[in-house]
Amino acid sequence: MLLPIGLESDPNSSSGVPSSKNPVDLATSQLSLIMSRLPGIMWTTDKDLIITHMSGAGLNLLNRTPQEYIGRHLAEITESQNLSSIGITEHLKALDGKIGHYELAVDRRELEVTVQSLLDEQGQIIGCVAFAIDITNQKEAERALAYISDRMILLNRVISLASSSLNVHKVLEVACQELAQTFGVPQVAAALFDKNRFEGEVVAEYLAPGCVSALGMKIPLRDNPLNEELIRSKNPVFVKDVSKEITVQDVQSILHERKTVSILIVPLTVRGEVVGSIGIDSHTPRDFLQDEIELAAAVALSVSQALDNSLLHQQLESQNERLASLVENRTAELQRVNERMTAILNGSSDAIIFTHNDGTIRNANEAFDLLFRYAPDEAFSSPIENLAEPPFDQLLIDTLRTAVQTGEAQRLTIMARRKDGTTFDADVALAPVPVTQNVSGGTVCSLRDITQLKEVERLKDRFVSTVSHELRTPITGILLGANSLHQHYARLSDTQRLEIIRRILDQSTSLAELIEGILSLSRFDLQRHRTEVMRVDMLQTVEAIVEEFRPAIQNKHLVFELDTPSKPILTRGSRLDFSRIWRNLIDNAIKYTDEGKKVSVVLTMIDTTDSSHLDELTPPDLPVGVYVVGRVSDSGRGIPAEDLVHLFTRFYRGNAAQSNIPGSGLGLSLVKEILTYYRGKIDVKSEPGQGSTFTFWLPADTEEQPL
Ligand code: ADP
Repeated sequence: MLLPIGLESDPNSSSGVPSSKNPVDLATSQLSLIMSRLPGIMWTTDKDLIITHMSGAGLNLLNRTPQEYIGRHLAEITESQNLSSIGITEHLKALDGKIGHYELAVDRRELEVTVQSLLDEQGQIIGCVAFAIDITNQKEAERALAYISDRMILLNRVISLASSSLNVHKVLEVACQELAQTFGVPQVAAALFDKNRFEGEVVAEYLAPGCVSALGMKIPLRDNPLNEELIRSKNPVFVKDVSKEITVQDVQSILHERKTVSILIVPLTVRGEVVGSIGIDSHTPRDFLQDEIELAAAVALSVSQALDNSLLHQQLESQNERLASLVENRTAELQRVNERMTAILNGSSDAIIFTHNDGTIRNANEAFDLLFRYAPDEAFSSPIENLAEPPFDQLLIDTLRTAVQTGEAQRLTIMARRKDGTTFDADVALAPVPVTQNVSGGTVCSLRDITQLKEVERLKDRFVSTVSHELRTPITGILLGANSLHQHYARLSDTQRLEIIRRILDQSTSLAELIEGILSLSRFDLQRHRTEVMRVDMLQTVEAIVEEFRPAIQNKHLVFELDTPSKPILTRGSRLDFSRIWRNLIDNAIKYTDEGKKVSVVLTMIDTTDSSHLDELTPPDLPVGVYVVGRVSDSGRGIPAEDLVHLFTRFYRGNAAQSNIPGSGLGLSLVKEILTYYRGKIDVKSEPGQGSTFTFWLPADTEEQPL
């Protein structure tokens, strides 16, 4: 803390050092001595602020000697300075007994002054004493620092905006504003050049109030020496007085309009090409210092970065858009292919699975789930062997491995096993899927249920063996008879020959019947898929067949009854099929009934919806409705109970096989086939020795339409 200093002024001291007559002078002289060693300045004033003393090593920094100050009013040396009034105030404070501080600029030096009261021996304030230290260098350093800091702030703002924003116009606008503020100019404009650098367009600017906007203004670049130089050199260009500069003649009118006197133009460069510029205009003649030009160039560089980023972003965006649409198209295509594949796979009646190379199931279609009775995706990850019954499980996996190793499709038949353990015959096709860029490899395996095929095969085998067996008997008979005639013709009597010929004829008839039966059945099998269904009048049909058998009935002297209604009895189907039913039943009744006995044929209709009329003609196990009923009864030999259950089995003839009555055992099978096809039924009742009654039902055609 500074204490008030007692001092007696000595205006006569030419050196400015007080005489050492008293302790105060002594103190002053000691202080002067100290000050002469320090780089500061000390001075004293009287109460009127007239400088009475000045000393100190710091005086060397000033251009004047102490004598030039002594005797002058403090205001004189500080008058020209802004701080003068503050200095005076602070000295007045010291005259009031307080300590004052202020900064003083004098002779181009800057001083920091502390001022306090100067006391006489009695402790009365007689003036001020001031200590000043030279802070010129410190101030300059501070200003330099502030200048750098300002520029750093400016650059920082522009850089951070430039690096964070893709809005080029916004970045340019901020850059213009910051540059205008930093350089203290009224207008800064940024222009972007066209691709061919034919002309530029002002796209952002900063304008002080009252300035003319340049937004949207076109700046010619060709034949414009200043801009050509800018584009060529890629360096800032500077014109101090545009009115005198030949290089700006072409844009003179623009500059004139904008009242531009001095202009600094910095290029905006993206990837080595000048794509725009920033013009910093001054309305007064102005020199741009090198570091100012560098600063403007640094700002332009940051803006260029933003331009580059934005360009990159635009490219990325369009690239992204292209990619997105590519991905979209590809995805849609894949989706379509996938949907098509799924539709094909699910539309297939075969079970189809995809497996890995080791046989693990990785996908299956709906038909697989249905056929093997798995829930969707339930079979996922199970080994393919699970789908086959031993020993086919091993065969299946071995065949899959062969397909994978050889790259060739394989085929096999297995006994397949469902999830619930039930089995069926399956035809399996295994095709290897080679490993490609997009496919991991494995096999496609299709499994087809061939139970029916197998059954048909079994039936066919049985049929062929039965037919061969049945055909062999009459053929052997015919051959034997013919052979006897041939070998022993001369030795045989006429009666014997006739007997042999009769046997040959019987066997031939049997053979013919057998062949006819087989042909009828196979014809029916073939024909039923293309039979044209039409209205058939059963009355006409039965009457025609009865007429066919009239001669046979008469030959056997049978009592024949035909009981039919007087109106048509309609059903739907093929007349040929219905004729076969009647023919077989009436033929059997005549065949298996001895001469003179009775055969009767009944044709009627029954409506089972009306239960009051139900009787023995009611069809068993048929839905309620209107039915055509046909019945053929005879009082012939009858059928033993053990034969009844087999009557409709192909080639089954029961005890008739041992009789002389010709037959093939196929007639009733055909009748049953036909009735089943037309959703009808047949029933037989028989008492051996009493006779048999065959009754059949067919759905009636009740539509009231004329025939
Ligand atoms: P078949 O050509 O032998 O007559 P069907 O299939 O017509 O063959 O008849 C099968 C068997 O049913 C006959 O062989 C016979 O034993 C018995 N059968 C059929 N109809 C009658 C009937 N009306 N009376 C007695 N037995 C009959």
